[in-house]
Amino acid sequence: MKTAVSTAAATVSQALTKGTCPICAILKDFQWTLAETTQPHADLRMCNFHVWALARSREKLSRSTPGEKVTDVFLEMLKGPFPGKTSADECALCHRVVEEEVTCLRELAQRFQSAMFVQWMTSQGSLCLSHGLKLKEYVPIRFRPSIDQIVERNRAELERELDVFRDQLRHGVHEGGGILGRVAEFLVGQRGL
Ligand SMILES: [Zn+2]
Ligand SMILES: [Zn+2]
Repeated sequence: MKTAVSTAAATVSQALTKGTCPICAILKDFQWTLAETTQPHADLRMCNFHVWALARSREKLSRSTPGEKVTDVFLEMLKGPFPGKTSADECALCHRVVEEEVTCLRELAQRFQSAMFVQWMTSQGSLCLSHGLKLKEYVPIRFRPSIDQIVERNRAELERELDVFRDQLRHGVHEGGGILGRVAEFLVGQRGL
C-alpha cells in the first residue's frame, strides 16, 4: 500500500508543474496505461470512449505490448454476448479512472496542510471546475475558500485569453487554438472523465 501512496505522491508532484489541472493531467496519462492492465474477458463492459481509447492506445504505447493486450481484449469481446450500449456507470475502465481520481484527490488534499503549498496553489496553481468541486470534499473546510479562489482565477485567466483569441480571429490570425482545449478541460475535465 505504501508504494501505491508514494507513486501517487510522485505523480501529483509531477502533474503540478504542468500548468493545467493536475488531476486532469494525471488521468489523461492514466487513460493510456489502462490497456496494459485490462483483463480480457468476454463480458467486459466498456463505454464508447474507452473502447476507442483502447483501439487508439497502440499508437500511444507502441514500445510496450498493449497492442497485443488490446487484441486479446477485443477478441474476447467479439465472441459476445454483446451487452449493448454501455454507460460510463457500467464501464469497467471508467471505474478504474474514478479509483485513480480519488487516490490523486486525496494526495492533493494532503498537501493543503502545508501553508507554502496553499500559497503557491492560490497564486499559481490550476484546477478545472469539476476537480475544484471534488477537491473541496477532501480538504478541511477552512481551505474551501482557497479552492474557490484558485478556480475563479483560472476561469478569469481563460476568459481573458479567449477574449484575446477572439480578437485575433477577427483579424484573421488563427494561431493559438490550444486555448479552446484548455477551456474545454476547465469546463468539463479531461476527455473520458
Ligand atoms: Zn481537472
Ligand atoms: Zn469508460
